[in-house]
Amino acid sequence: MCRAGWRASLGTGSFRSFNGVAVLAFGLFGQNAILVPQETLGFDIHFVILSNKAEVRQVATKEQMAKEVEILNHHFVTEEGKPVLQFRLKSVAFFHEIQSSRCSLVKLADVPAEYDGQTWQTLFNGCDDAKVVDPHAINFYVYDSYKSDKGFSDTDSHGRKNHHRPYVLIDFARLNHKNQAPEEHEMGHAFGLSHVCVPGAKRDSDTNIMASSECGQGSGGLRNLGFNLKQVAIILEVAHKVQKRLMAPD
Ligand SMILES: [Zn+2]
Repeated sequence: MCRAGWRASLGTGSFRSFNGVAVLAFGLFGQNAILVPQETLGFDIHFVILSNKAEVRQVATKEQMAKEVEILNHHFVTEEGKPVLQFRLKSVAFFHEIQSSRCSLVKLADVPAEYDGQTWQTLFNGCDDAKVVDPHAINFYVYDSYKSDKGFSDTDSHGRKNHHRPYVLIDFARLNHKNQAPEEHEMGHAFGLSHVCVPGAKRDSDTNIMASSECGQGSGGLRNLGFNLKQVAIILEVAHKVQKRLMAPD
């Protein structure tokens, strides 16, 4: 597979606010992977605290959101530990700042109802309040997941590519990289990756970031092994389209 075109396209690089950040990334050229230094694509993240609960407020601080970005920058890497994308904290919207928004997305906060990906996506795409959906950033929602059998003790998290306007939802109890690497796993979904099945994996096994028990053959494991070449190729291809989409004028 030849991806020589990427060097030029990726080289135009990053968002306005991200210009000048020189990071080494790599491209895939020819049959084998050859590491080629180039500018890493950078993405701004807008955090939205989508819960009015005291326990969420307690952990979802601006300092913690900065840490979430650090976690992503540390763990969103290749098998060799090289960064695939770079992330930057753009802004944080706390619940009191958005609770009276015209966007119906905020009505999903703390509602005892099962997650419905289609509803979230529809409300996300229909929202024109930049505090709730920043059109020029990846939106990262901190919320409290609910399931009928577990109630609000559920900690499911999600990532959606959403036609190259990605967003993630992370349960507040999993902030700070708790319980199977939620930040980089959900961001992996947001950049087009599917689950990987690791037959026989146990909860404490070393597994790929995108490992999941969904296939019924093994645990998702620790999700502590970086993205493989095929996954990196998908992420970079999607990232280029995401960048174009997020840079489009309002
Ligand atoms: Zn997943």
